[in-house]
Amino acid sequence: MLRKNKKNSLIISIIAGILIALLLAAALKSGDLNSSVLFSQIIAVIIVLGFFIFFILLLKKLLPPQPQPQQVQVEMNTGIEKDFVIRPTTSNLTFKDVAGISEVKEELVEIIDFLKNPEKYRSFGINLPKGVLLVGPPGVGKTLIAKALAGEAGVPFFYQSGSGFVQMYVGVGAKRVRDLFSKAKAMAPSIIFIDEIDAIGKARGNLRNDEREATLNQLLTEMDGFEGSEGVIVIGATNKVELLDEALLRPGRFDRRIFVELPGLNDRIEILKVHMKNRPFKGNLENIAKMTVGFSGAALASLVNEASIYALKQNKPYIEEEDFYAVKDKVLIGKRRLNTYTPKEKEILSYYQSAKAVIAYWLGVDFERISLVKDDFKEEDKEIVSKTEIMSKIEVYLAGRVAVESKFSEKYSNAHKDIKKAKEYAVLMIKEYGMGDNLVGDEVEIANILNIAENETKVLYANNKELIEKAYEIMIKNEVIHKEDIEKIKNEIF
Ligand code: ADP
Repeated sequence: MLRKNKKNSLIISIIAGILIALLLAAALKSGDLNSSVLFSQIIAVIIVLGFFIFFILLLKKLLPPQPQPQQVQVEMNTGIEKDFVIRPTTSNLTFKDVAGISEVKEELVEIIDFLKNPEKYRSFGINLPKGVLLVGPPGVGKTLIAKALAGEAGVPFFYQSGSGFVQMYVGVGAKRVRDLFSKAKAMAPSIIFIDEIDAIGKARGNLRNDEREATLNQLLTEMDGFEGSEGVIVIGATNKVELLDEALLRPGRFDRRIFVELPGLNDRIEILKVHMKNRPFKGNLENIAKMTVGFSGAALASLVNEASIYALKQNKPYIEEEDFYAVKDKVLIGKRRLNTYTPKEKEILSYYQSAKAVIAYWLGVDFERISLVKDDFKEEDKEIVSKTEIMSKIEVYLAGRVAVESKFSEKYSNAHKDIKKAKEYAVLMIKEYGMGDNLVGDEVEIANILNIAENETKVLYANNKELIEKAYEIMIKNEVIHKEDIEKIKNEIF
């Protein structure tokens, strides 16, 4: 702004100078130069100039503001416009490059077939989902899956990151979304992949809210504006599905959700195999997989790389297990919230989770699988829930703590999440549902319920110790136990 004003006043001074010089020259030429004439001529020039400036200012006020050249400068400086080119890539990755996660791949087979033969589906009037949401922590291979999907189907792949859409200037993001969809539609069948879709689905940091909303609205409009049969599949990736705007999750938009979790033991072995392909190695990859609980696929890829560099630096002809142990900590540094456990911690967690699995099985609290780090107890899809059912849930959440305390004669902090859930259910039971002795229960009654539940859990634990020990063996080996496993070992015992 300052520079612009300076430029204007410079032009005005030059014009004024030229006018005065012209008048002086004219006066000198006509020979009638005397001081009073000269003075009045200068005054006249100043008045004319005053009018001139007044007019310019008036015009500026009346006319709509022009884009500031300086703003354009800012955009160019940040490289936003320069870097933003919508261009698809062709992917030569296939599902062979994505190790493990067979369940995720199975879910995508139908979509690949659809992208390969859209006419087949169209002729039967079948509309496939337009939007698929891949949900999972960073580095578990969400981008890799989307690329492999494009490679398998042989269709163009449009990659965009959510944060790349939402910009400082309102309307820029919406325009980018529009351009992206129009290109993808023109090249259908095709895949649009939007990484970190929560950047659009949810406001972030100091970015302006109206820009995010404009971008989100445009995305919703685009998704509503084409038919599932047109052959464009939009894949969004996020690790925070709970933060996403409800509107994005409605039918016809991202209505299919696929969860991608941190790899379990077997998947880690497979991922290591993929990344160790074509590298000279002596040793057992299973041992490396065992010491990398909580590593994502990306962390494993970087572990392989670091171990290879380490071996090479020592002029070894091949990579060995010890090279992995040597660099493990280096890979861990900087990786956020990576759960790695010492053998003792793994024992505690395995026993804890096994007890939960067995007690849940007995009490009929439904689940499919319980892993070292996660359980998936099904939320009740019922209008009416009984006190017994809520009590069972509380007991399941207390089971790990009770079992671990009995086995290791110690209490551990990993129980805190489950204790919180148990308390929440107790509060619900007493305060909301009035299932205590009084209609409006108090803290004493809540504590009482938790005590009763704990005592019942202790009895359940004592009666099922053998089953829990057996489940523990499975858990420590596989880091996961399925409901069927428990059924099997129960039949062996009883
Ligand atoms: P996300 O998108 O979930 O953050 P990426 O797809 O970017 O994760 O994964 C980063 C890298 O990690 C991949 O390029 C690949 O090298 C490795 N990786 C992750 N998951 C797998 C997997 N299941 N199989 C093989 N490599 C994997």
